[in-house]
Amino acid sequence: MIDLGRYMRQKKRAGEKYFPIVLMLEPLHACNLACVGCGRIVEYKDTIRDQIPLEEALGAAQEADAPIVSICGGEPLMYKHIVPLTQGLIEQQKRHVMICTNAILLERFVRQVAPSPYLSFNIHIDGMRETHDRVVDRDGVFDTCVRMIRLLKDKGYRVQTNSTVFRETSAEEVEELIKFLTSLGVDGMLVTPGYHYQVLTNDIYLKSEEMPNKFRHVRDLAKEYRLINTPIYLDYLAGDRDLTCSPWTTVTRNPQGWKGPCYLITNGHYKSFREMHEATDWEFYRTRQDVRCRDCKLHSGFEGTVALEFGKNLKDSWRMVRHYMS
Ligand code: SF4
Repeated sequence: MIDLGRYMRQKKRAGEKYFPIVLMLEPLHACNLACVGCGRIVEYKDTIRDQIPLEEALGAAQEADAPIVSICGGEPLMYKHIVPLTQGLIEQQKRHVMICTNAILLERFVRQVAPSPYLSFNIHIDGMRETHDRVVDRDGVFDTCVRMIRLLKDKGYRVQTNSTVFRETSAEEVEELIKFLTSLGVDGMLVTPGYHYQVLTNDIYLKSEEMPNKFRHVRDLAKEYRLINTPIYLDYLAGDRDLTCSPWTTVTRNPQGWKGPCYLITNGHYKSFREMHEATDWEFYRTRQDVRCRDCKLHSGFEGTVALEFGKNLKDSWRMVRHYMS
């Protein structure tokens, strides 16, 4: 948070408006699972074997120059250069690296990369055993996640979880999961509505009007448990306030190039970060004028807005300070 605050002050002082906070680095789209609701393996099925060369992946982080790099995919632990990529980002570039993983290949990775204050894991877990194994379409994955969370905590790594709430997810199950993950000692939990990828047609996602009920309950749980969602974003999900989107705060680089305009929707892939910026009308997406933005409450776009607006409203800022201190 200190590094992020410093970075944002520098950018604002320099008069920059559209700067990235997080780079979503997808070095590959291949995965060892085929989860229900995953847009990546559908959108990139023709290029699923492609991987970004190591130098290009490290260069992408320098190009965006965001303080946080989220290595995702696909399953990032299947990337053949995952160890030197992680080490290069941490040791040479001093980025805060988050590895978003389904946990299946974690044991091999932690034998090669030591704990660091710059490294955290984000484990995908969408419900208790029956639900999660159904979502990932394989028995035993929930138990693997639990075993890996215990292993990571034993070895001193920072561990967060990322859980998607679908239409069928009950409020009771969300509560049960949050309590269970807390008992495992995780450092934080992100609970978000499912992303409606433009390439998917299934009806498993929450509609805007269905979100408030589910997320009022999540907001109540946040008073007691370590949820990463900020209180302002939870108010938005609970339907108690509106937010604009800041898609430029989370930029995506994958084997095809820089994906624009945002993590969720694709107008094109661009050769350079600069080209992607120049091709994108950020004000159009900030005000959610695109029809594809209609049901979107994607955390990366809206938490970016919360971060950018920190300090503008005293009451909100105080709630944010309390959130980060708790
Ligand atoms: S509202 Fe959603 S789909 Fe639209 S630009 Fe923001 S993150 Fe992308």
